[in-house]
Amino acid sequence: SLSLSKKAMNLKPSATLAVGALAKEMKREGKPVISFSQGEPDFTSPRAVLEAGHDAINKGYTHYTPSNGIAELREAVCAYYKKHFGLEYAANDVLVGAGAKPVLYCALAAILDDGDEVVVPAPAWVSYVEQIRLCGGKEVLVECGDTGNVPTLERLKAAITPKTKCILLNSPNNPTGAVYNAETMKGIAQLALDHDLIIINDEIYERLVYGDAKFSEIVALCPAVKDRTIIVNGVSKAFAMTGWRIGYALGPSKYIKAMGSIQGHLTSNACSIAQYAALGGLKDADDVDVEVMRKAFSARRELVFSLLDKIPGISYTRPDGAFYVLIDLKGLLGKTHNGVALADDAAFCSDLLKSKYVAVTPGSAFFADGTMRIAYANSEDDIREGLRRFAEYVAEIK
Ligand code: PLP
Repeated sequence: SLSLSKKAMNLKPSATLAVGALAKEMKREGKPVISFSQGEPDFTSPRAVLEAGHDAINKGYTHYTPSNGIAELREAVCAYYKKHFGLEYAANDVLVGAGAKPVLYCALAAILDDGDEVVVPAPAWVSYVEQIRLCGGKEVLVECGDTGNVPTLERLKAAITPKTKCILLNSPNNPTGAVYNAETMKGIAQLALDHDLIIINDEIYERLVYGDAKFSEIVALCPAVKDRTIIVNGVSKAFAMTGWRIGYALGPSKYIKAMGSIQGHLTSNACSIAQYAALGGLKDADDVDVEVMRKAFSARRELVFSLLDKIPGISYTRPDGAFYVLIDLKGLLGKTHNGVALADDAAFCSDLLKSKYVAVTPGSAFFADGTMRIAYANSEDDIREGLRRFAEYVAEIK
């Protein structure tokens, strides 16, 4: 038969990439689009990154690298985790790949058999569920939209069955920006120990935490889970290196080795030039550049709050991290805008883009029906103008 596989047919294209692509296309057509859709810092990568990338090209580092990444970069990742969290990992227990996204896929592929269940707090990043399914697993979503976007231990526990293999965490969270505190992290770690589960901890937003909130590193807080935890991180967000495509994992040798074998058959290795650029970033951009960008995000976050708080009919839980705000639209759905029925979040976001050229992502893409996500990783001017148009749009709803 010429049919697609069931896996391919069941796959939903990435909604964030789709909205982002549509917004870019409208921009190319000359429409004054302001995009809050993609989780991508507007900053150019730090100078140290650019220079290290140039240097790698000029030196002719244009060959295959070891499949798990160049040793210098794996060592730099270890040094980073030692410096920030006091954790000791050997360079061989690090896998470098073409972004946190494929590294996460390798982790799931390395641990899941058909029918295995993965507990995921929801709202959740779109790709988790699709990747779990591609790997033969089944997601078990644990709702936390009504508990401040932080999962309760009771609900997590209730979601565990004999088929549960893993719990997949993401704090600071995409799409809610929620940051789990130390107590929550310790509780989840204990749950994993009690039920013999693997933890995959997606720490990609670990540097982007604001105000009094603190990032809680689960292995540092609870060393007993070190031999069951795969940490996933990367340079895309904190180092403004989305386009270079470098992510990594740290974890027990058993898992990292298997993930490396999978990657070896998939991509061989991440781009050699990008690996050197990431090395330059970890070595020379960590102390100043990352903090300068974090402070800028922090100011934008305050600006976003001040503007959103003036808009009636919407609500949101104030996020402590990442660069997202998940906005509850339920008070506006079921109404109309210039005759267009706003039946659900998808209709709302599509009409908002068409009528005000403001791109946001519908919350249903994150298992948060009736909401929309804005990413405030763009300039303050864009934030002001985009949210002015959003306020205008909301005021026109009848
Ligand atoms: N994890 C989360 C929660 C994300 O939001 C993203 C990016 O959007 C990633 C992982 C992947 O980042 P990258 O593949 O660019 O390293």
